[in-house]
Amino acid sequence: MDTSITTSTGTSLKGGEWLIKESSAFDTFTPEDFNEEQLMVREMCLQFLHTEVIPIIDRIDKMEQGLMPSLMEKAGGQGLLGAGVPENLGGLGKDFITSTLVNEGLGGGYSFSVAVSAHTGIGTLPILYFGTEAQKQKYVPKLGTGEWKGAYGLTEPNSGSDALGAKTTATLSPDGKYYLLNGQKSWITNGGFADVYTVFAKIDGEKFTAFILERGMEGFTQGPEEHKMGIKGSSTVQLYFQDCKVPVENVLGEIGKGHIIAFNILNIGRLKLCAAAIGGSKLALTDSIRYANTREQFNTAIANFGAIKHKLSEMAIRIWANESALYRTSKWIDDKETSLANEGKQFNEALLGAAEEYAIECAILKVHGSEVLDFVVDEGVQVHGGNGYSDEYTISRGYRDSRINRIYEGTNEINRLLTVDMLLKRAMKGKLDLMGPAQAVSKELMGIPEFGNDGDTAFAKAIKAIANMKKPF
Ligand SMILES: Cc1cc2nc3c(=O)[nH]c(=O)nc-3n(C[C@H](O)[C@H](O)[C@H](O)COP(=O)(O)OP(=O)(O)OC[C@H]3O[C@@H](n4cnc5c(N)ncnc54)[C@H](O)[C@@H]3O)c2cc1C
Repeated sequence: MDTSITTSTGTSLKGGEWLIKESSAFDTFTPEDFNEEQLMVREMCLQFLHTEVIPIIDRIDKMEQGLMPSLMEKAGGQGLLGAGVPENLGGLGKDFITSTLVNEGLGGGYSFSVAVSAHTGIGTLPILYFGTEAQKQKYVPKLGTGEWKGAYGLTEPNSGSDALGAKTTATLSPDGKYYLLNGQKSWITNGGFADVYTVFAKIDGEKFTAFILERGMEGFTQGPEEHKMGIKGSSTVQLYFQDCKVPVENVLGEIGKGHIIAFNILNIGRLKLCAAAIGGSKLALTDSIRYANTREQFNTAIANFGAIKHKLSEMAIRIWANESALYRTSKWIDDKETSLANEGKQFNEALLGAAEEYAIECAILKVHGSEVLDFVVDEGVQVHGGNGYSDEYTISRGYRDSRINRIYEGTNEINRLLTVDMLLKRAMKGKLDLMGPAQAVSKELMGIPEFGNDGDTAFAKAIKAIANMKKPF
């Protein structure tokens, strides 16, 4: 394996290829490469967060009637819900990195961040990527501005990780004008106030298919709000369908191909979850640093103690690594999208193709992002001592709200399984040369070890350590 730093080749690595190939520092996109517009968008989000969301976070968590939808409309009015929506559908038509920055920028908004992520991700993207022109024209502009709010119903009481085991059925009405949906969905984010829902059901109990439902459709009702451990301001309800009449025009995508929608949307959702987790992690770190600098014990700020410095630096290190991996991947997705568009692919095919190429990275980012956030808020509580256990301090909210991230958008167990599964599948399809490097490692093991001096700077040592870590894999 070549561990030397080369000059730019101007090419992105393919999905999973970072494991077997070295890339140049010059080819790697980092947050230092954000352009002015991207920085401005992030600033706008942070400003919204700190002026409109954080000051009323207690009211949000108390689920004050109408507050969350109105706040989402306010964010929509500033273009924050339509960054990734094309201009011809009323959005800002920004690149993937910019829309990811929006998720990060608003990620410190506790339950508000959950509502926005669900709305802009699983609530909007199925229609944007898989809708007919008429469906897109009808729903996307209103979702992009926040006039309508979106939700997504995949999970059922008896099918979570095994999403294709859904029991909700759809049967064509005798006049051929409607599908009649019967069944139930559970844990639906934004479910209590959404206007538009992407719901999955099996036509004739077999063909897994997506449908667009609207609030108020005959036979469509919702249960009460769930009482949750955290994200208390986020609406989460069950959905019930009793001969729910869904017009045939509201079938989304191809009949029997609902799994393509469900899985593709999740790829993007996983990466965006990582972005939001980074936003939350940064806020928790900032709160912890502020506290450590002001809290005094033994006549000095606790920030002066080695144990506290160690905690704060471990938090920063993990956030930095997470951020680096996120934006590196986002740039690969942007590049792949551009190259697919240049090959003549439509907007939706290009972004979906790009996200599919980097599905392994999306799963890894989801796992890493959620676990870094858990680490950061846990250590954040510790830095706050007893006060960290009090509702008076925001770190306790961060601690409670963080936990969900390891469960939804595919549990971390499922995403770990997927990571390995997808790597092996890509290798078997000839998309990833795992055998070549594996044989090189086995040859190296049989030969005389190479003790060559690769340099003794910290960076050279880190490069060598990473190259060596890849070998056992
Ligand atoms: C607050 C909240 C909001 C949500 N929002 C939405 C939403 O908007 N829309 C929606 O459709 N769903 C939503 N969900 C549902 C969520 O996606 C599921 O809870 C999640 O996919 C896990 O499914 P489950 O709860 O049925 O757990 P299960 O699938 O029963 O899993 C239980 C445990 O078994 C493990 N497990 C399962 N299968 C395997 C396996 N093959 N190998 C190893 N371990 C395995 C899991 O990792 C987990 O640890 C939400 C859930 C919550 C709690």
